[in-house]
Amino acid sequence: MTAVRQESGTAELRELAERAGRDLEDASALEILRWAAETFGSRFCVTSSMEDAVVAHLASRVLPGVDVVFLDTGYHFPETIGTRDAVGAVMDVNLITLTPRQTVAEQDAEYGPKLHDRDPDLCCALRKVRPLEEGLKGYQAWATGLRRDESPTRANTPVVGWDEKRRKVKISPIARWTQDDVDAYVAEHGVLTNPLLTDGYASVGCAPCTRRVLEGEDARAGRWAGRAKTECGLHG
Ligand code: SF4
Repeated sequence: MTAVRQESGTAELRELAERAGRDLEDASALEILRWAAETFGSRFCVTSSMEDAVVAHLASRVLPGVDVVFLDTGYHFPETIGTRDAVGAVMDVNLITLTPRQTVAEQDAEYGPKLHDRDPDLCCALRKVRPLEEGLKGYQAWATGLRRDESPTRANTPVVGWDEKRRKVKISPIARWTQDDVDAYVAEHGVLTNPLLTDGYASVGCAPCTRRVLEGEDARAGRWAGRAKTECGLHG
């Protein structure tokens, strides 16, 4: 396996991503992350919503001190911030917290209060999409915890793919995992999880846009409930 050059161009990275997506489709999560670590080194990071620390834990096993990027939108549950702090304290990772350009108060002053209720796409663009775009600038590849079983919109998630929006390699090492696989890994390795997961939440996002899920609903049904919106723009 050869590391890609820092100055590798978009076409080269895209081709690399597409080939790896095919070659690694049946590989384990650790093998996928090992490929990422060997290929991109420090130009690779993991993003985490702090719903759980599974991908961060997996990545730290193949790349100790790996950058773990968390987006602090200013709207998180205290439990999510607590999970982030615990991850930074006990895991062998370099925790990086990204923040939007404006505080919630500054955004309220410019756009009016509760923008999330009136225009969630704009709120997500300001508080998630833009800060992540800026925060990922120094990386060639980023890993996510996306899984195919989470929702129909994620059913075709490649284990390695090309993120055209950010022009980076996007790695989803647990794309093929089920919730049972996640639970088993958490139990086996004592991985930190967000306490809200045992309080009726199946997917944890910003507090104003997240509710508990009902029996029979898919994991992301509690996000932007009652709206057509299913993704925040980071993955769609
Ligand atoms: Fe705003 Fe809700 Fe998006 Fe969070 S999830 S950035 S509160 S619209």
